[in-house]
Amino acid sequence: MTTDLWFDPTLCLIGGEWRPATSGRTLPLVNPSDGSEICQIARGETADIDAAVEAAQAALDGEWGRMPAFERGRLLTRLGQLVLDKVDELAAIEAADVGKPLTQARADAVALARYCEFYGGAADKIHGETIPYLDGYTVYSLREPHGVTGHIVPWNYPMQIIGRSVGAALTMGNAAVLKPAEEACLTALAFADLAVQAGFPAGSLNVVPGIGAEAGAALSAHPGIHHISFTGSVATGALVQQAAGKNVVPVTLELGGKSPQLVFDDADLDAALPFLVNAGIQNAGQTCSASSRILVQRGVYETVKSRMAEAYGALTVGPACDDLRVGPLISNRQKEIVTGFLDKGADLTIAGQGVLVDHAPDTGAYVRPTLFADVPADHTLARDEIFGPVQVLIPFDTEEEAVRIANSTDYGLVASIWSRDGARQMRLAKQLHAGQVFINNYGAGGGVELPFGGVGKSGHGREKGFEALYGFSQLKTVAAYHG
Ligand code: NAD
Repeated sequence: MTTDLWFDPTLCLIGGEWRPATSGRTLPLVNPSDGSEICQIARGETADIDAAVEAAQAALDGEWGRMPAFERGRLLTRLGQLVLDKVDELAAIEAADVGKPLTQARADAVALARYCEFYGGAADKIHGETIPYLDGYTVYSLREPHGVTGHIVPWNYPMQIIGRSVGAALTMGNAAVLKPAEEACLTALAFADLAVQAGFPAGSLNVVPGIGAEAGAALSAHPGIHHISFTGSVATGALVQQAAGKNVVPVTLELGGKSPQLVFDDADLDAALPFLVNAGIQNAGQTCSASSRILVQRGVYETVKSRMAEAYGALTVGPACDDLRVGPLISNRQKEIVTGFLDKGADLTIAGQGVLVDHAPDTGAYVRPTLFADVPADHTLARDEIFGPVQVLIPFDTEEEAVRIANSTDYGLVASIWSRDGARQMRLAKQLHAGQVFINNYGAGGGVELPFGGVGKSGHGREKGFEALYGFSQLKTVAAYHG
């Protein structure tokens, strides 16, 4: 696949200037569809993070810090339009960089534009309150930015995660330092270029690509950062929280999950089936909110199993530019992790598997989507996040058993209930450990308006929707005594 870039991918954006990493070092970016090198990217390190944080602080002390909320909103809205104008280019770049089939990559670019539109419109609609208090006082609250915000973004949904995290931070008047993933950072650089075109002042958005243990660690430990938003693995999230904790900096963590769908005997199976499968194989299963566990009540278990197995048989896997249902994983390293899990399932029954197209290069990071049946709820495949196109079917008898199994992992990101029983829907929506619960759907189209985040090892804090704007700001209480 040829990818035309309209920006120089070897540079960082710091203080409104595009410049190479201070060390002059670069890293190769690999196309996971065939293993070829797309280009080199900057290998930012501590010196670059220092410069980016300094530039962000200077922006807060200058034009950006004084800009009225409605003007920030206008910039975001303009940025959303520029993203929309480039949707096809962004999709092609993401397809090459992440291996995402073009249709899915395009949906991410449209979502990025939606975040800019949503937050652009919200910028001047967030405000403090007046608080009734003692005689002689007037008390009110002010919503203020944290200051310099750090954003550590993974490779699975760069555009969506940048939109929800950087978009919300800028809306509230923070100045952002973004560290994209070393495996996929081209759309972060494209976004930064469009932000410059939209008129964001120098230093309001800075982007430093680089390795996690270098640029990422420097960002999370930086004393000049006032808030960190991290999306990625539990292990790295814990490191980021620990580093930020030393500076007493608040952290939002979004760390993935093992999200269940609960299918009851009274479910509308025709409606459920597409969601049951798609939630497991979208983006080749590399989705924090992927549904990797399908819990099915005994009365419909065999039907669901055979219908899902049939759907798996029709799944084709191949290069991102073929725009099939499933593309490659992000890297051969990720392929090793996922095949390691498949090996651990050697004692289980495979109910269905997708098909790899003949012309898929051997050098690509392909894994056939795999559906395991009759999986014990305590099996590693039913408990651990695989981050690949793998789903497990777990039978259950009673509602209580279903809830117990659903809540039995360390994670709690999302869950869904497939049932026509309204009372059960309400009951389970309360009982399930998750940050989002869906009733007779899964994902609700991923709406930018819907607050998102987890409980347990899925993390803490909420992004998306208005809720993110509270997270990316702090409340100041002003109490005036006037007698
Ligand atoms: P990771 O958590 O290591 O990387 C995510 C981001 O953190 C990247 O930008 C990376 O550069 C950065 N990072 C890495 N080490 C860092 C450090 N010490 N300090 C600060 N930042 C650091 O994830 P990974 O290695 O790319 O993937 C490993 C596993 O993580 C996957 O198999 C999957 O289970 C999980 N994962 C989850 C999500 C999610 O959306 N929840 C996204 C990506 C990966």
